[in-house]
Amino acid sequence: MSRFWSDVTRRLSPYVPGEQPRNADLVKLNTNENPYPPSPRALAVLAGDVGPSLRLYPDPGSLALKDAVARSTGLGCSNVFVGNGSDEVLALSFLAFFTGGHPLQFPDVTYSFYPVYCQLFGVEVERIALADDFRVDLRSYRGGRGGIIFPNPNAPTGIAIALGEIEELLRDEPDRLVVVDEAYVDFGAESAVALVPRFDNLLVVQTLSKSRSLAGLRVGYALGHPDLITGLDRVKNSFNSYPIDRVAEQMAVAALDDEVYFRTCRDRIVATRTQTTSRLEALGFEVLPSSANFVFVHHPRVEASQLFERLRERDILVRYFEQPRIDRYLRITIGTDDEMLKLVLALDELV
Ligand SMILES: *Cc1c(COP(=O)(O)O)cnc(C)c1O
Repeated sequence: MSRFWSDVTRRLSPYVPGEQPRNADLVKLNTNENPYPPSPRALAVLAGDVGPSLRLYPDPGSLALKDAVARSTGLGCSNVFVGNGSDEVLALSFLAFFTGGHPLQFPDVTYSFYPVYCQLFGVEVERIALADDFRVDLRSYRGGRGGIIFPNPNAPTGIAIALGEIEELLRDEPDRLVVVDEAYVDFGAESAVALVPRFDNLLVVQTLSKSRSLAGLRVGYALGHPDLITGLDRVKNSFNSYPIDRVAEQMAVAALDDEVYFRTCRDRIVATRTQTTSRLEALGFEVLPSSANFVFVHHPRVEASQLFERLRERDILVRYFEQPRIDRYLRITIGTDDEMLKLVLALDELV
């Protein structure tokens, strides 16, 4: 605390990211990174001639990147906004669309950055309880007057929401903006991107951090009606004209264009998830049905906090949330087959 802190700074309770330990020997299953390297085509950018061009500012409109996102999603450039990770895209969306209005609705168990943005930008919150089976029930979101945001699949549960239910919500609530955070959609949920041309109250947010193995590059994007994109550009251009640097833009374009590599890694992770799920179930764990690159699990006889600590002692890092409703669960990222085998062997000894 400093006497120079403003009231706003004093009142914040910032987001706490999962630990990024320096010890490289850890089996790191705590922040949903992809265990496979980025596309070789993206990596080739680093060996190319981008270096000398860093003397110059990047393209403030990131047109090459918007083009690549448009190609990969089947939408037009005017439907695309890009930012420094989808966290930044989300933050700018909160500022552009949710300030000064009615309470924003989101699930009581969800991505813990949402309440942080609300606090930062003074957005009122209405948390909507998940159903008893941890599903997001979009019928409970009817009748509010502010915006709505949820991840699909939800985090940290991994459970997907059916596209038909999202479409019904968009149709029933045409005057409320619905933001679908699709950070994990590639691992098994149905994307709402196909609905963008038909609904001007839909914003879909995606990232290269998880399914494209580029968490370290910081590139995310939003897809929506051109008027929503213009709104985001107004806010972005009042804050930072150059969120996408030259290296990030070129690497992101290369990664987006490498569909074959993307699918190969994604399919491998989905196969590992299936195998890990059955192995954990064989050890007595309850595993929520995951459409993401992580599983959310709980053991009827052993405390999750205990398992978290014991795994840590064995250099295996997973995520534990000391929060109502989910403090008996662990969130475990799907790593390589080898990493998951180490996890299962350790848990076999611990339960
Ligand atoms: C990881 C994650 C993000 C943020 O990803 P970026 O790395 O900032 O692109 C956004 N939403 C959810 C639900 C996430 O899990």
